[in-house]
Amino acid sequence: MTPEQLVQHALEARQRAYAPYSNYLVGAAVLAEDGVVFPGCNVENAAYPSTICAERVALTSAIANGSRRFTAIAVATSNGGTPCGACRQVMAELGLDMTVYISDEHGNFRTTSVRELLPEYFGPEHLPA
Ligand SMILES: [Zn+2]
Repeated sequence: MTPEQLVQHALEARQRAYAPYSNYLVGAAVLAEDGVVFPGCNVENAAYPSTICAERVALTSAIANGSRRFTAIAVATSNGGTPCGACRQVMAELGLDMTVYISDEHGNFRTTSVRELLPEYFGPEHLPA
């Protein structure tokens, strides 16, 4: 799976976004260690806080399907917007070593990492034993 292919999965997932309020369509695709790709899109709600982001849809779907180890995630928006804070925290929990590809709607992407996006993340080591 090339970065370009993973970005393409995110672009396709973006087309399925349910975003009638913001009209900000987001797609994501997480690559599991075994090569399986799990797509996600943002799903908004009239009760705004009930909205869930594409990245968390993809990751929670992957977990629900039995995957636990991930190597990369691609995120696609109209303008190359980056994952929100909540998604960065979930990415740190479930895929701290993932490469992150951030794409615009044309497939132009840049490469970063979860560690770059969320340095000094809160992790399990911060919880009392
Ligand atoms: Zn988010």
